[in-house]
Formats: sequence, structure tokens, C-alpha cells
Amino acid sequence: MVKIMTKDQFYELSSNAFEKRETCPYCHDCSFSVIIGQIYFPIFFGFPIGKVKINNELFDNTHLLKCQNCGLLYKDLVISKETQVQIYRDSKERYKYKPCNRYILQKLQIIKKMSKGKKQHILDIGCHTGHFLKLAQVAGFKTSGCDYSDIAYAEHRDFIDMDYYKGFIEDIELLANKFDIITAWDVFEHFYDVRVALQKIYYSLRLGGYLFLETGNVSSFPANLCSVNNWWYVSSLAHFNFFDVSSITYMLNNMNFRIITIDRVYHKSIDGQGAVQISKRLLKSILFISPKAYRYLTNLKGKSGEAASLPWKDHIFVVAQKQ
Ligand SMILES: [Zn+2]
Repeated sequence: MVKIMTKDQFYELSSNAFEKRETCPYCHDCSFSVIIGQIYFPIFFGFPIGKVKINNELFDNTHLLKCQNCGLLYKDLVISKETQVQIYRDSKERYKYKPCNRYILQKLQIIKKMSKGKKQHILDIGCHTGHFLKLAQVAGFKTSGCDYSDIAYAEHRDFIDMDYYKGFIEDIELLANKFDIITAWDVFEHFYDVRVALQKIYYSLRLGGYLFLETGNVSSFPANLCSVNNWWYVSSLAHFNFFDVSSITYMLNNMNFRIITIDRVYHKSIDGQGAVQISKRLLKSILFISPKAYRYLTNLKGKSGEAASLPWKDHIFVVAQKQ
């Protein structure tokens, strides 16, 4: 399924490494969906991890759709679960978008304030190697995690003091009313099935428990600067779903969550960066205004053609309560 090239150390993906999505991943219906356009993929990706090269036919076969019922934007062709697991298992590289401690501590402060000082049990979905949960443990929370990567599984004993769930949230079995808090930092865009994922979250939270999530905002200025299907966040190989304030509000209310707050925030990789790093990002983003030229230049060098996020508040931070 995934061909691993040893010479240049990249994974070459053909169409059988992808799976078709026939319906809106929230509504489970395609009758409300309209095509926004094709997606300007680069040839090489540095994401999820390792170096990935995609087959040309995927350019023609992948579209960005909008469901006019729930407002969600989504891809109709996505990298398969098996392929993602294999890349995470085989790659020698590590996940590079590690959030800085200041970012996590700010989030923990908000969570602590809402949980009123009691020892609360957190489930972090997409916990990876525990950057968030390690600090949550220190802050006095009971920690559980969920991730499908083997790297995360190998290291989970360092940051989990309750349960570890290996797999995709849509596929794992959770007990009802088990957690006080569920967190999902930059994870909603990766769900294969948004409805099932939200149902699992709702089911396993106790009544009055909180969901904290962060994801890209498809209605933000950078997302629409050069049309949404050119946005780096959409062209990223492992991102499948694109929310905004209106669609996430609809879905959470529809699932019987009460929205406590929605804030516009920076991507976690921006927070705490210096002027030099921010300038590099700006340069890459300017090039991305012409995605074809950018792709051509990066292909010449055999480098990842993914653009960086602008130093702009192009994400949403949401707190919702189970009622
Ligand atoms: Zn929908």
C-alpha cells in the first residue's frame, strides 16, 4: 500500500493509500454538499511525519466540499487509516509541531479555573507523546490519553496514570460518563467521522463535564486570502475537516453541548516564536499566494511544498459543556 523509497527517504503514496468519503462526515448525507474546488496539493509533504510524495492523479480526484446543512468543509478523498498508522510506525522522524510549555500552561490555567480546583480526570484525544498530559499531571489532573500512533503507545507510561486507548477515537470503546474533561488540540480536522467522534466524546463525558478543543478557522482572513482551497491547512495531507465559528456551534448545539466560549487564537506552533522564525513563515506564506509557482520551486529542491501558517489568529478555541 505504501511504498517506502530508501534512496531519498520518502513515502510514495498511490491512490490505494486513500479512501473516498461519500457523505458529509457530520450529517452523513451528501445531498447538501457543493464542490468548492480542487485542492492545490504540493508534491512533497512533511506531514503527518516523515517525507511523503503523492501521486499526480490525486490532484484531479480530491475536492473540497461544503455541506450546506451543517456548514462543514471537507475533503472527499483522504489518506486511509492504515496508511497513517504505517507512516507513524515506520518513520524515524518525530512529530514536529510541538507546542511550547507556555501555550499548554495557559490552557491548563483555563481548565483549572473551570474545574474549580477539584482533582479532575482528563482524556486527551490525539495525545501523541504526551506534551500536554505531562504538564496536566504536574498540575494535579488524573490523565488518560488516546492516540493511534505506535510512538505514542511506546511512551504512554510516562504521562498516563489512568487509561490509554490505542486507536482512532471513532473506533475505540469508552465507558459512559467517565471523564470530567476531554481535550482535543488540533485534532477535529483529522477525524474520519465527525459525528461519531462527537458522539463518543459526549457519551464518555460526565454530565456538566467540559470539552476543550482547538482547530483551524476556515472563515479566517488567511484561509480566504487566496481562496480557501489554497490554504496551507487545507492542502495538508492529514487534515480532512474544516470548521468555523458557525459550523462548530451548530454541531455542538446539535449534540446537546452548551457553548461556553469561542475565541480566535494562533496555531500552537506560532505561540512563543521569535522574529526570525515569524519572518520565515511570512516569506513562505507570500510564496503560497501562487501555489503553482511555490510547488514548482519546492519540487525542484525535492522539499516539502507545504506553506507555513501566517502569524495570524486563524484557529478557534472552543469550550463546551455537556448538558
Ligand atoms: Zn453536514
